[in-house]
Amino acid sequence: MFSKVASAAISGVDCVPVEVEADVSTGLPMFSMVGYLNSQVKEAQERVWTALRNTGFTFPARRITVNLSPADIRKEGTRFDLPIAAALLCAFGYMKQEAVQGVCMAGELSLNGEVKPVKGILPLAELAARKGYRLCIVPEENRKEAEVPGRISVLGIRSLKELEEYAGKKDWGVGEASKGRWEQGKKNRAEDFADIIGQEAAKRAAVIAAAGFHNLLLIGTKGSGKTMIASRIPGIFPEMTWEESMEVSRIYSAAGLLSEENPLVTSRPFRSPHHTISPQSMAGGGRYPRPGEITLAHRGILFLDELPEFSRRTLEILRQPLEERKICISRSAAVCTFPADFLLAAAMNPCPCGYYPDRNRCSCSEQEVHRYLRRISGPLLDRFDICTEVQDVPIEKILKKETGKTTEEIRREISRVHKIQRKRYGGTRIRFNSGIPVRNLEKYCPLSPGGKKLLKKAYEKMNLSMRAYHKILKTARTIADLEDRDEIQEEHVSEAVFLRAMDRKYWN
Ligand SMILES: [Zn+2]
Repeated sequence: MFSKVASAAISGVDCVPVEVEADVSTGLPMFSMVGYLNSQVKEAQERVWTALRNTGFTFPARRITVNLSPADIRKEGTRFDLPIAAALLCAFGYMKQEAVQGVCMAGELSLNGEVKPVKGILPLAELAARKGYRLCIVPEENRKEAEVPGRISVLGIRSLKELEEYAGKKDWGVGEASKGRWEQGKKNRAEDFADIIGQEAAKRAAVIAAAGFHNLLLIGTKGSGKTMIASRIPGIFPEMTWEESMEVSRIYSAAGLLSEENPLVTSRPFRSPHHTISPQSMAGGGRYPRPGEITLAHRGILFLDELPEFSRRTLEILRQPLEERKICISRSAAVCTFPADFLLAAAMNPCPCGYYPDRNRCSCSEQEVHRYLRRISGPLLDRFDICTEVQDVPIEKILKKETGKTTEEIRREISRVHKIQRKRYGGTRIRFNSGIPVRNLEKYCPLSPGGKKLLKKAYEKMNLSMRAYHKILKTARTIADLEDRDEIQEEHVSEAVFLRAMDRKYWN
């Protein structure tokens, strides 16, 4: 007998349909599996067989062929165990083919017949809903994740026994399609901008960075609070929209990072990989490309602490995504494009010991300082729109406990500026001021006569590169937006120049 069960394979952060076919015929008893499978899928044969036997099914000796199609998609992982088991049960007449008609399923089997969670269930449920399936059968631990997109019924099962029970029912409707739209999870409000004492300049830089999606570099002595500031940036961003949340959740699902408790990513990502990270973990990849840190930071912040300690090759990876907001990875098995639209925030000490230019505490030679700073190449430095110093807070301020605006207050301000940008760039591909293409700078960044004069002066006096000049203009655009001014004024240019010029203190 012949049977067919629908499933899906992961491709990048999406799913593509896969059909699992089983054929049982008389002839020399044997079991063969075909269809561009990796070793994990080939081993399914043993797992599925044992799981079925241990659930109590017995099978006569037959010639069995299982085919996963289409054949040109490479299939990996253990996700096809469940559909293979279902196809076999149908082919041997234990289940009616109608029971699995219009059903999309995935799940791993353990030898005792339990159904274990797998990656990529959220995109599978989206695909099933889009294709008009009536039901998704998934591991119970993945059920909530499958319910997130909505518009499709979901059945979570714990064992093959439960699959059999489902199939034995008179009708196979299993209640209503899930509504989707999970409630926004509880936000972690513990980290607030108001907790940071002093540091007005650095906080201001962080606000401008978030307002216009500008890349930010924080330089400061050890313990001056660089990480404290960077880790609070996600909080001052407007909350993610449902679409953004889905987009990010899809990535986390494909990476196997969603959990039963958090089936939907509702907080903006903040990724802070250690400087020992490999180029591949940063970019994503592998035989079956998986999202890397830059993709896991999509729609959020990628924070690189101790920037000079990262390997050159790892930092080199950032180039393409910072320009194109995505990364293409080609491997023998597949070519994948992963989204990678993140705000880059980085922090660094000014020297190996961390106290330069305070000569009372810094014991590094000029040469050591120079060598340390030089690890940040010119082109990389050029990627930062804003470069600011984080200084030790004077003791008087700590005693007075001087704090500034709260995260909540700043978020309202930034929401307003994002709204201005949405309106200004409506119908274009630009999202934020940092992304204005050079050819559109004049159109979107009108300067007052004073602003124009100052910018020209800065360009000549500071011997700026063209790229630096453009960055200053974009940052000035954001500063003007924060003050609700359409025309960029002299003081906006002046602040933008200051925020860009800080690197000269160290690199010249
Ligand atoms: Zn030092």
